[in-house]
Amino acid sequence: MENNQKVIIFSAPSGSGKSTIIGHLLKRVPNMEFSISATSRKPRAGEQNGREYYFLSHDEFKQRVAAGDFVEWVEVYEGTCYGTLKSEIERIWQKGNVVIFDVDVLGGISLKQIFGDKALSIFIQPPSVEELEKRLRNRGTETEESLHKRIERAEMELQYSNKHDVTVINDNLEKAVDQTETIVNNFLNRQ
Ligand code: ADP
Ligand code: 5GP
Repeated sequence: MENNQKVIIFSAPSGSGKSTIIGHLLKRVPNMEFSISATSRKPRAGEQNGREYYFLSHDEFKQRVAAGDFVEWVEVYEGTCYGTLKSEIERIWQKGNVVIFDVDVLGGISLKQIFGDKALSIFIQPPSVEELEKRLRNRGTETEESLHKRIERAEMELQYSNKHDVTVINDNLEKAVDQTETIVNNFLNRQ
């Protein structure tokens, strides 16, 4: 099967379950690799530089923007930037693998515009904003302030589901992973 430098874009509000679904998918479908983004946010407990993200200071992030190192970047939350490094895409394609992106909805729309038919964009939708808040609280990674910022942004992001190729509702996790796997395999088997 020829992957032809394909990319799969996952976008959704924070807490929808993107990382969880991607984690399962990477175990099930071969030759796919996660694009490690850069961010100016602080690492969470258990996160490692160069595994979940490249963690940069705000100044380092802005220097890399000025150097033209990003394909896209967004200040997702006030004062906190996230971006896709050109070098990640090169690194993954060089190995003949398909790139998996986990990005916010605006980043997802930019990447789809850039990669066109080589890209499949998947919107992961939570059953409701209330459930999203519950999941973010249970994840235990947010302060009351950052949780509030994420929920506020989610209300805007949820309006962008129709700008993606497909939407998967993540209510039952197992069903959402099965559905995502089918959609991804159909895309990869298409020439
Ligand atoms: P994202 O990457 O979109 O921010 P995560 O994958 O971190 O979201 O998921 C947010 C939280 O919700 C995690 O604690 C995860 O274990 C949990 N979660 C994911 N999918 C489901 C689901 N279908 N039902 C209940 N909890 C879920
Ligand atoms: P978190 O802080 O929960 O890891 O990520 C917050 C949000 O930033 C999520 O919606 C995540 O998908 C998004 N994000 C992560 N990396 C990138 C990136 O490279 N570009 C963009 N635009 N968003 C990103």
